[in-house]
Amino acid sequence: MTENRPDEGAVAATVRDITERIAETCAKCGRDPADVRLMAVTKTVEAARVNEAIGAGVRLLGENRAQELLSKYDDYRKDGVEIHFIGHLQTNKVRQIADKVTMIQSLDSLPLAREIEKQCAKLGKKMDCLVEVNIGSELTKSGVSPEALPEFLEEVSSVGGICVRGLMSIPPVCENDLERERYFSSLYKLFVDIGQKKIDNISMDFLSMGMSDDYLLAIKHGSSLVRIGTALFGRRAYAGHQ
Ligand SMILES: *Cc1c(COP(=O)(O)O)cnc(C)c1O
Repeated sequence: MTENRPDEGAVAATVRDITERIAETCAKCGRDPADVRLMAVTKTVEAARVNEAIGAGVRLLGENRAQELLSKYDDYRKDGVEIHFIGHLQTNKVRQIADKVTMIQSLDSLPLAREIEKQCAKLGKKMDCLVEVNIGSELTKSGVSPEALPEFLEEVSSVGGICVRGLMSIPPVCENDLERERYFSSLYKLFVDIGQKKIDNISMDFLSMGMSDDYLLAIKHGSSLVRIGTALFGRRAYAGHQ
């Protein structure tokens, strides 16, 4: 672990540590650290600690639940900070969050795309979205399976109020790094292949993969946005629900 500097709190020291690790990994694999965004995943973390991370340079927050976002939103420092929605999103919650987030990373159905279009039309904005890919085709997980992805992209391409900017995924729980790397490289391949297809309204600018346990590995495999909760804020204390 990083030693705290005298003037630095624990969260700030951790932000510095993670930022350094990302930079080292980028150097090793010949990538520009500017091409990898660090997201602080804030679920269950009180606003004051999130603000500490912002004070230490974090500029991107990831929110999982509409209700939690609404309850903490006013307390967040917002200078230059973007919020992305990363949790499963029910269509009836889109209205509550559409004006507060700059990206929805969990786009996984056509009805959701249409509802985002509808709510964003009221706000006079377009929403950047990532398509959530269920890379392990797990029955219990949301996201579009790799097999269904081409057709889904075709359909979403004609929904006016959204711009698809890339892919997001939470791979299955893995036994080892080799298995993880297989999922990451499949995702990277999808990302590159779709980018080459030049579909209207669909560009592949961001590949959001990698969390606390595997973000460095994800970066080696082309991730451009890592979503980090536990490694930044410590273990979450759940009050009986996620
Ligand atoms: C909770 C969560 C994360 C962060 O997970 P950690 O293992 O705590 O880093 C990343 N992405 C999504 C979608 C999450 O729900």
